[in-house]
Amino acid sequence: MKTRIEPFKIKSVEEIPMTTVEQREQFLKEAFYNPFYLKSEQITIDLLTDSGTTAMSAKQWGVLMDGDEAYAGSRSYYRFENAVKKITGFKHIIPTHQGRAAERILFGVMCKAGQTIPNNTHFDTTRGNIEYSGANALDLPTAIGTRPDLEADFKGNIDLDKLREAIVEIGPENIPLGMITVTNNSGGGQPVSMENIRETKKILAEYGIPFFIDCCRFAENAYFIKLREKGYENKSIMEIANEMFSYADGCTMSAKKDGLSNTGGFIALNDDSIAEKCRTLLIVTEGFPTYGGLARRDLEALAQGFEEVMDVNYLKYRIEQVQYLGELLDKDGVPFLRPTGGHAVYIDAKAFAPNIAPQYFPGQAIANELYRVSGVRGVEIGSVMFGKEDENGNHIAPPMELVRLAIPRRVYTKSHIEYVAEACVEAYKNRNELKPLKITWQPQFLRHFTAKFEYIK
Ligand SMILES: *Cc1c(COP(=O)(O)O)cnc(C)c1O
Repeated sequence: MKTRIEPFKIKSVEEIPMTTVEQREQFLKEAFYNPFYLKSEQITIDLLTDSGTTAMSAKQWGVLMDGDEAYAGSRSYYRFENAVKKITGFKHIIPTHQGRAAERILFGVMCKAGQTIPNNTHFDTTRGNIEYSGANALDLPTAIGTRPDLEADFKGNIDLDKLREAIVEIGPENIPLGMITVTNNSGGGQPVSMENIRETKKILAEYGIPFFIDCCRFAENAYFIKLREKGYENKSIMEIANEMFSYADGCTMSAKKDGLSNTGGFIALNDDSIAEKCRTLLIVTEGFPTYGGLARRDLEALAQGFEEVMDVNYLKYRIEQVQYLGELLDKDGVPFLRPTGGHAVYIDAKAFAPNIAPQYFPGQAIANELYRVSGVRGVEIGSVMFGKEDENGNHIAPPMELVRLAIPRRVYTKSHIEYVAEACVEAYKNRNELKPLKITWQPQFLRHFTAKFEYIK
């Protein structure tokens, strides 16, 4: 059979709101032209994030009831610990309420002000937590990784030459750890090859620098390795994941992604002394080490989620659903980052709206227009999220201006994807009418979440 189908059937449904263009124009205004301020009841299809928006399986809802809510020593923790150990092989498994808590604790323990942490591309919260601790977040994507128009298999890779140069220049004593993010979320949900992970470990080990994986989408990354990297065609997702983690000294994870659950995260690592320090900080700020800020039932849902996410039929559907949206956009010439990644399609805002310079936030203008025409919510990943100003107030733009359409796991069907594609085409037709924006208010960190905007007349 050639027809692609969702490898599940629907047992429980949730109504989605339908609104008019006029209503949505008003909602956008009330939301300060920042889709983060929109309310669920104003959104028809929500592609803001794939984080914690997963539809849980009947089995996951089932095990929730079996959660053991003991404060200490909960059997739900041990199920969770087992599931994570089976995949990562690490000795210490420390649960947190979500990914950024894992980051804050790990960087709080491992980094000092003025130090630098390299990564293929830091995610926004990772960068935020590093900068908050006074350290520097250094992105080292490959040259091809920041070219939305070029097709390649592993555009998420870290640039190994630049990594070595950076270590020599900064000095290994000023690099408390090196990281790789799989898949590379801010870089287009693009996978990292096994070879790149292996070589990163080699370089870091040469200088005695610990290597951590930001592994939110490890299963999606493993599936891409199976599809695209020689020698892995016949390996299981578990075998590939095991090998990926075997090169690392530890990892942080937002289990709201490939944990197939609505909340959760963890730090996993081998070093006893760092683990002890992490647990101490965990007790102060998250909770006891057998729950880490989560309800114990959530650990049950995660343990089950980690089993389901390794299913190759699920991963095939997942990656092909994202690919399908890309194919539909391609038909009508809507520019997007190629090839489509694991969890999202990223509209190439520079090619979509070349008439708006980065300092006037083309991605934000596109995200707003997309919502206006359809009720579909996406998110800007460009100058709003990562832009900075130099000492003279000049805008420093990140390498790409993107609008991410993140696909929640197991939530939307093929017809929903078709609706989204039509919405993108509709917004693209209006591209010459898009207007520049300015920020009227912003917070000190992670400004994209709460910044307020106005159109420049
Ligand atoms: C989501 C995400 C995080 C942060 O996790 P939260 O659970 O949202 O706190 C960190 N890194 C990457 C790559 C992510 O996608």
